[in-house]
Amino acid sequence: MDIYLTNTLTRAKERFVPADPGRVTMYVCGPTVYNYAHIGNARPPVVFDVLFRLLRAAYGEGSVVYARNFTDIDDRIIARAAELNEPIETLTARYTKIYRDDMAALGNLAPSLEPTATGHVPQMCEIIGALIDKGAAYKGKSGVWFCVAEDADYGKLSRRTQDEMLTGTRVEAEDDKKHPSDFALWKTAKPGEPAWDSDFGRGRPGWHIECSAMIRANLGETIDIHGGGIDLIFPHHENEIAQSETAYGKPLARYWMHNGFLDMDGEKMSKSLGNVVLIHELASEWPGEVLRWALLSAHYRAPLGFSRDLLEQSKASLDRLYTALRRLKDVDADDVDAPDAFVAALCDDLNTPEAVAVLFGLATEANKSEKLPEQQALKGRMLAAGALIGVLQGDPEAWFRSGDNVDEIDVLVAERVAARQAKDWAEADRLRQVLAGMGVEVMDNPQGSTWKRVG
Ligand code: AMP
Ligand code: ZN
Repeated sequence: MDIYLTNTLTRAKERFVPADPGRVTMYVCGPTVYNYAHIGNARPPVVFDVLFRLLRAAYGEGSVVYARNFTDIDDRIIARAAELNEPIETLTARYTKIYRDDMAALGNLAPSLEPTATGHVPQMCEIIGALIDKGAAYKGKSGVWFCVAEDADYGKLSRRTQDEMLTGTRVEAEDDKKHPSDFALWKTAKPGEPAWDSDFGRGRPGWHIECSAMIRANLGETIDIHGGGIDLIFPHHENEIAQSETAYGKPLARYWMHNGFLDMDGEKMSKSLGNVVLIHELASEWPGEVLRWALLSAHYRAPLGFSRDLLEQSKASLDRLYTALRRLKDVDADDVDAPDAFVAALCDDLNTPEAVAVLFGLATEANKSEKLPEQQALKGRMLAAGALIGVLQGDPEAWFRSGDNVDEIDVLVAERVAARQAKDWAEADRLRQVLAGMGVEVMDNPQGSTWKRVG
C-alpha cells in the first residue's frame, strides 16, 4: 500500500517513503495549555490521528512513533497565570488534563509521546549554543536572536519574500535584534517570570526552539513527517527549520503537512476574533464521534465551514451507518481488512470524503444483504474501515440510546435544579444517580447545572 501525501516543502503530492520503515516518525505541534481548546484546534489532532492510524496499518503498530507536544511555557501562559493568581504549573496541569479529555472525547488515540517544553530546556540550550558557536545566532541584552540574514535557506518552506516575511513581525521596545526578521531563541528573564539558568544568562526559551528541541530529543535529527495547522507554516515551522538545519546541517523533516483552517460564517475561528466554540462544550451536547465525523467531512487541506448544520448532517451520517450495523448486531463480523477502495482513498493524501463514500456504499449493501456469509464480510469491512478513521467502534444499540435522549436528560437536569432550589437534597441526589446511570455527569454552578456524557 503506497501512501501519497502533499508535502508543503515541495508543494507536490509525493509518495511517502519513510527513512526507516521499522521506525516511522511523526511530530505534530500541540497546544499551548492556558485555556480550553476550541473546535478549530481539534482539526490538526484529528487529521493527524487518522494519518497515525493509517501509518500503523501500513508499517505495524510498534513501528510508528508519533509525538505531539505540550507548550507549557509561553507569554500567554504567564499572563493567564498572573490574571488567575495561581502558579503556572497548576494552570498548565489543569489545561493539559482538559486537553487530554477533549482528545479522548474526539476518539483520538494517545500519541506515542507527549513531550513538554519545560521538560526540554537543556536540549533547547544545546541547540542555541550550537547556533551561537556557528555565528548563526547572537546574544543581546533582551535575549539570544537567530540571525535570519545569515541563513540562505530561510523562507524555503513558506516561499515568502523578505518583504512578506517582515509583515507581521513585531519589534518590541526592549528588543535589541539587529534585523526585524530575526527571532528570539532565548528571552532574558524579567522579574517575576519563570526562568532557567543558561550559558547565555537566566531566561526562558522562545516558542520555536521548543519544537526543534523536542523533535531532536524524542524522535531524532531528521523525522519523516512534521504536521500542524496551515497558520504554523510561517513563522513557526520556517523558524524550526532555520534553527535545526543551521545547527546540525540535516533536514528537520522530510514531509511537511498542513491542515486547512476551520471557519465559522466565513471567518476563521480564533480566540482573538472571539468566535470560538470550545471542544468540551460541544462534547457535552454531541457525541464526540459526531464532532470527529464533522472534522473529517472535508479534505484536510481544504477549509472547513463549521456550523450546527454540519453537526446535524454528521449525526445523520453516523445514524445511517449505525443503523446498518444495528441490523447486523447478532452477526459475527469477519476479521478482515478495510476494503481496498477505502484504503486507497486514505492513501491518496488522506482523502476522507472519498473514504466515507465507500463506507456508505458498504452500509447500503449491508442493509440489503440477506445471506449470512455476506453479512459477516460486510460487517467486518465496515468495522475495519471505521477503525482506520476512528469511528463506528461503539455498540450500535448504545449509539441510538445515547443520541436520542438529550431531551430526556434536559428534563431530568431541570428537575434536579428545581430540587436543589427547593433544598430537597435527597431528591437532587437521587436524580444525580439516575443521570449517572445514563452515563451523564452533572456539573453544578451558581447559574444552574450543565451536563456531559462520561464513560
Ligand atoms: P493555537 O492554540 O493557536 O496555538 O493553535 C493550536 C493548533 O490549532 C495549531 O496547530 C493551529 O494551527 C491549529 N488551529 C488553530 N485555529 C485553527 C482553526 N480555526 N482551524 C484549524 N486549525 C486551527
Ligand atoms: Zn511546533
